[in-house]
Amino acid sequence: MLGVFGRLFKRGEVDCDDVQRMSSDYIEEQLPPNKLASVQRHLAGCAPCRAFVETLATTIGLLARLPRVSAPPSFKKDLTDKIRSQR
Ligand SMILES: [Zn+2]
Repeated sequence: MLGVFGRLFKRGEVDCDDVQRMSSDYIEEQLPPNKLASVQRHLAGCAPCRAFVETLATTIGLLARLPRVSAPPSFKKDLTDKIRSQR
C-alpha cells in the first residue's frame, strides 16, 4: 500500500493497477478526498476501469444486501484477484 500511495503523491494521478487496488475502498467511500478525486479522474477517461469498478460494486452491493453474512477478511481481495484474472 505504501508503494501505491507513494506513487500517488509523486505523480498526482493513478493508473489502472492503482484504481483496481483501491476499487473496494472507492466503492465503500473509504478513500480520502484527494485519492477519491484521482480515481474519479481516471475512471472518467478509462472505460475498462469503469467496467471493473461497476462489476465490483454490483458484486459487493449484492453481498451487502444479504443479511448477516460475514466474509473472511481476505474475501474482498480474493474477489478482486478473481475479477482481475478474468480480464
Ligand atoms: Zn484504467
